[in-house]
Amino acid sequence: MAYSKELFEYGRSVLNRRRQQASQSLTERKQELYSSIPRLAQIENELLLTGYGAIRAAMSGGQGLQQLKSIKEKNLSLQQERRGILQSVGLPEDYLTEPFSCSICRDTGYKDGKRCQCYEKILREEAFRRLNSQTPLSLCDFSNFDLSYYPVSAEAGPSPKEQMANILQYCRHYAQTFSFASPNLLMSGRTGLGKTHLSLSIAKSVIENGFGVIYGSAPDFLSQIERERFSRTENDLQTLELMLACDLLILDDLGAEFSTTFTCATIYQLMNSRLNKQLPTIISTNLTSQELLKLYGERVSSRLIGSYVPLFFAGQDIRQKKEQAALS
Ligand SMILES: [Zn+2]
Repeated sequence: MAYSKELFEYGRSVLNRRRQQASQSLTERKQELYSSIPRLAQIENELLLTGYGAIRAAMSGGQGLQQLKSIKEKNLSLQQERRGILQSVGLPEDYLTEPFSCSICRDTGYKDGKRCQCYEKILREEAFRRLNSQTPLSLCDFSNFDLSYYPVSAEAGPSPKEQMANILQYCRHYAQTFSFASPNLLMSGRTGLGKTHLSLSIAKSVIENGFGVIYGSAPDFLSQIERERFSRTENDLQTLELMLACDLLILDDLGAEFSTTFTCATIYQLMNSRLNKQLPTIISTNLTSQELLKLYGERVSSRLIGSYVPLFFAGQDIRQKKEQAALS
């Protein structure tokens, strides 16, 4: 994935900090232990001396090789003695080595010349965080979704309140059990019925479970992608790439964007590519299925109908009702 220069700088600074922390922790551990068990400090010095001795012996050749063997034995027995002491005071064997966050790359970010998984994770999460930074994720939660604003009576079938209670339960379960096998969701219904609230609640919960989630409104993302596409900087297409690759994409307010050939093609590319990669997507829209067909054509609307679980939001504008309730 093509990340920006700033993102790599951020990644390197995180790794630097982790290495410094590991080194600092080791220093503190030594200070604490060596004062109560001085033999451990002696062992460290002796190990250092065997290291120098080994280098000298290896360079002198001939008789040196015989010496080298005994130095190695000495080194191993010192390490064994140290492990024994640590064990006797109830500490792990490796307590006197740097406690790196990642044992694979020792917080260098690289293993065998390639970026380590830990480094990839830092870059990915920060890229998602930056994309989501405009979204009030902390404000919405399943627990503050208020069903009392939905009507309890209906002309036929279940009331809006019952329908919304089912949708709330479905979304909560979806968020708690989210995996790459989770279905795509299409939230539709008039404006102000809680689609944004519930999709934000899902985003928050899925992020807390450690997945990479991108959340945002279709108009914002599409204009950002268009800007990046025509500016041709080194960050070229970064937003689109991230949206194609994240674990869960939540696209709010589809249909509110200024519609052009470019936006329709981009929506199709996003939906189709994520379906092929089997990465879940949640789309919310105020449009009806006929309006979606008219706006995006057959290719997009047939995918929305065929590959997305529909959730119909019922009731009257909740935002309006809340405002009225606050005034009265
Ligand atoms: Zn690593």
